[in-house]
Amino acid sequence: MDFAIPSEILATLGSLDAFIETEIRPLENANRQYFDHRRENARTNWDADGTPRKEWEELLAEMRRRADRAGFLRWSLPKELGGSGGGNLGMAIIREHLAHKGLGLHNDLQNESSVVGNFPIVQMFHAYAKGEQRALIEPMITGEVRVAFGLTEPDHGSDATWMETQAVRAGQEWVIDGAKRFNSGMNHATHDLVFARTSGKPGDAKGITAFLVPTDAKGLEIPYYHWTFNMPTDHAEVILRGVRVPHSAVVHEVGEGLRLAQHFVHENRIRQAASGVGVAQYCIDESVKYARERKTWGVPLAERQAIQFPLADLHTEAELVRNLVYKTAWQLDRQDQLHVSDRVSMANYRANLLACNAADRAMQVHGGIGYTRAKPFEHIYRHHRRYRITEGSEEIQLRNVAGHLFGYIRR
Ligand SMILES: Cc1cc2nc3c(=O)[nH]c(=O)nc-3n(C[C@H](O)[C@H](O)[C@H](O)COP(=O)(O)OP(=O)(O)OC[C@H]3O[C@@H](n4cnc5c(N)ncnc54)[C@H](O)[C@@H]3O)c2cc1C
Repeated sequence: MDFAIPSEILATLGSLDAFIETEIRPLENANRQYFDHRRENARTNWDADGTPRKEWEELLAEMRRRADRAGFLRWSLPKELGGSGGGNLGMAIIREHLAHKGLGLHNDLQNESSVVGNFPIVQMFHAYAKGEQRALIEPMITGEVRVAFGLTEPDHGSDATWMETQAVRAGQEWVIDGAKRFNSGMNHATHDLVFARTSGKPGDAKGITAFLVPTDAKGLEIPYYHWTFNMPTDHAEVILRGVRVPHSAVVHEVGEGLRLAQHFVHENRIRQAASGVGVAQYCIDESVKYARERKTWGVPLAERQAIQFPLADLHTEAELVRNLVYKTAWQLDRQDQLHVSDRVSMANYRANLLACNAADRAMQVHGGIGYTRAKPFEHIYRHHRRYRITEGSEEIQLRNVAGHLFGYIRR
């Protein structure tokens, strides 16, 4: 076994750091209102349901354009899409590294915009899309085409296979009726990947089909966005009433949409886990630094066991989870996702929890100032708290682990 980080990935980290300092940090510094205590206000259009302001999204787009020009944005994508075929282990190390640098334009929390793109839908389309759909892949990378992911419904989240949205074939078309909830990114999406039951009964894995629905399709409405713990929001409620799409809107095969959903969540779960480890280590390191400087009763906080032990505990957990994330990412580079699905769940569950615990502890060690927006811990907590629910909640990750452990789910 060789636990050394591959030299080419180490070299990539070095050039990423240099690129961020020369190309991204100046842009961030010229736009401080999006990153300091004014963050929420500067980013949020309160009069448009709390969705992101156009200027803020434009800043993120400029960051991505610069990263693409410098050859970093597509790093994880296959060579035929202009990437370097980076792989899961490389991405895990890079995402951990970027999160460990703290918050900033290089790796923003709001919609996981990063100088090294996380492209779950591009990866999904590359693996499964056919015919004309493949022409959308390049504009998806450059941001001209944006595809949201519509799986969750008002009455079905964890039990997504019980979905009530239905699609019925009508000649060369399909007619979709139903509703979606927390359909992220609909504020700027050109298409929504809508999952609908086309056959079978509630709970069946087969019989769910994914449709690529243009967001301006007749019958698709967004009645409102959900206001969330971290603002702005882009989490739409969506209603589909008699939405008609051609048969060519089916992505992958009729009845096989669940495979696409699994592909999407596996991509996201391991990346989130890596970011969780990085941000947790950032919170730990900042707390150690502060505890060395801050004195109470004339003595640095760092000398108090009550300060040391919780941080030592988190540091131990970070090391454990980091190794699980790396090993799982390494396995993902060698095996089908479904063969390591329980490991991905373990890593995601523990890393998300770790990130939240580390942000919470950092607030505690920093005392009152830790609770203010002069420090980034509330922002980190607000964002990472979401992951304990969204990519399959922690109960659902544990259910997956238990399913493999007890043999209810077979590899
Ligand atoms: C910010 C945000 C962004 C999101 N973005 C998207 C998106 O882009 N696309 C999309 O499709 N969805 C999205 N979601 C939805 C997300 O995937 C769901 O919220 C999640 O799957 C949980 O479903 P639910 O909210 O319906 O909770 P429920 O399924 O109702 O679960 C409620 C609670 O019960 C627990 N629970 C449920 N079943 C069991 C069980 N069998 N055993 C033990 N405990 C159980 C859950 O873990 C949870 O704690 C987003 C959600 C949020 C908050």
